[in-house]
Amino acid sequence: MPAATIYYDSDADLTLLEGKKVLFVGYGNQGSAQAQNLRDANISGISILVANREDSYAKEAKAAGFHVENDFGKAAEGADVVFLLIPDQAQPAVFNNELAPHLKEDVTIVVASGYNVHFKFLNLPRKSHVVMVAPRMIGISVRTRHQSGKGFPCFVSVEQDSGNGQAHAMSLALAKGIGATKAGAISSSVKEETMMDLLAEQALWPSIIQLFTQAYSVLKAAGCSDEALCYEMWMSKEPAEIFERAADEGFLQQLKHHSTVSQYGQLAGALKIDPNPVRAHFEDILQNRILSGEFAKEFAAIEKDFERTDDGNPLNVLYRQHSKSELAVGEENVRKRLPQLLD
Ligand code: NDP
Repeated sequence: MPAATIYYDSDADLTLLEGKKVLFVGYGNQGSAQAQNLRDANISGISILVANREDSYAKEAKAAGFHVENDFGKAAEGADVVFLLIPDQAQPAVFNNELAPHLKEDVTIVVASGYNVHFKFLNLPRKSHVVMVAPRMIGISVRTRHQSGKGFPCFVSVEQDSGNGQAHAMSLALAKGIGATKAGAISSSVKEETMMDLLAEQALWPSIIQLFTQAYSVLKAAGCSDEALCYEMWMSKEPAEIFERAADEGFLQQLKHHSTVSQYGQLAGALKIDPNPVRAHFEDILQNRILSGEFAKEFAAIEKDFERTDDGNPLNVLYRQHSKSELAVGEENVRKRLPQLLD
């Protein structure tokens, strides 16, 4: 695999956006940050419209000085660029039913996540550009880093060109417009982004949940108190500090801040774990659950249930199951005593 191309401000041409009508669908985490960043670019003749239902998000957008349209179809009419920035599970219905029938030819559709494009859940008009500009940061950081003159990590890709050959240049102009080429936007694809996102969510972080749960249980059986375990394992924020240093200094280099006993223990201990079952599990999830589309199909079948406010909401069911672990029960007890512990 060749090294990925990294695009900077000098690779992008903001004049491509001059006079364009840009629609932000959604004014949440990413929508509010990206719309404000783009407005700050002061591009000549650009008009920015926000489409949102009449609620607190719409109020926020109006308070920030944006025009807000509640009728998504009306908002889509004549748009040159559509940023689709509503939650992934809401995108297919909103895009296919409310936006797509009103889009003009050569519109540029921008997604911030690869999921719906990769699994073909969006009815994308053939004569449209489809690009991904996917910040790797939460919306607040996309905004605050931009305001302080810094960039933020971002993936960029072209998934479809309308036929006029401009999709690549548009993707870079839009990335620059929202401040994403300042620190370098990495060339990617919806497939790559989806694989990495879902594998982290479905194998890497679940493994970490399971590892913490088992370590807690073993130490508790060996006589450690819940209080000591919670503080030792995460409440001290040591894991957060480790990951912060890993990002700043290097995944392995951060180890050098630890004692010799700790460095030796971690490096030697990692080599004692049989990598084969771990790798086999990750391969299985990637191939048979993610890339096969099995997960996407399963999630699509239950996504309506996530709106339930009763015990049947799938997340409530899962939280109930996890709440029975020794770690969860122990932490709940410790948190009840926390004010006393802090006194
Ligand atoms: P949010 O959850 O913040 O989106 C909220 C916005 O979506 C609001 O404007 C809300 O308005 C609107 N919305 C929600 N449901 C619906 C619906 N059914 N119909 C119409 N509008 C709806 O989304 P994010 O900003 O977190 O995510 C947007 C995209 O960005 C996603 O593709 C996500 O994967 C991607 N992304 C998100 C990141 C993050 O930090 N959160 C990081 C990188 C990418 P209303 O009041 O009408 O519900």
